[in-house]
Amino acid sequence: MREELSNILREKYPLIFAVNPPAADALDDMPTVFSIWGFECGDGWFDLIDVLCAKLQLTTKHGAPQVIVAQVKEKFGTLRFSVSGADARQRAIIELAEMMSGRLCEICGHPGETIDAGWLQTRCPSHSMKA
Ligand SMILES: [Zn+2]
Repeated sequence: MREELSNILREKYPLIFAVNPPAADALDDMPTVFSIWGFECGDGWFDLIDVLCAKLQLTTKHGAPQVIVAQVKEKFGTLRFSVSGADARQRAIIELAEMMSGRLCEICGHPGETIDAGWLQTRCPSHSMKA
């Protein structure tokens, strides 16, 4: 994801995308994958991640735990949004967003489908088969 969009998400949800999250347990002082690599997916999922984070932060406002991202990446054509601190409801919200990513072009966000072009990827008609 390009830096401009990444920065918007980091600024809107600083608690979710904490670069130096407070150590949940003292044994784990390793930096998160996210703090090193950032958003490892295309620009097309910006809105999906934005809405996901807005919803997660809303649940926190109403008493749920604060979710902290460990890794955000594309894998097998869909979004993987790995976090610590999520309760069952927050995990379900994340699961929905991950499933929805299989219907949204990772490049542009238009409706698409997961296709096998040598590797699995989710693309709209105009971005598919242009490897
Ligand atoms: Zn597209």
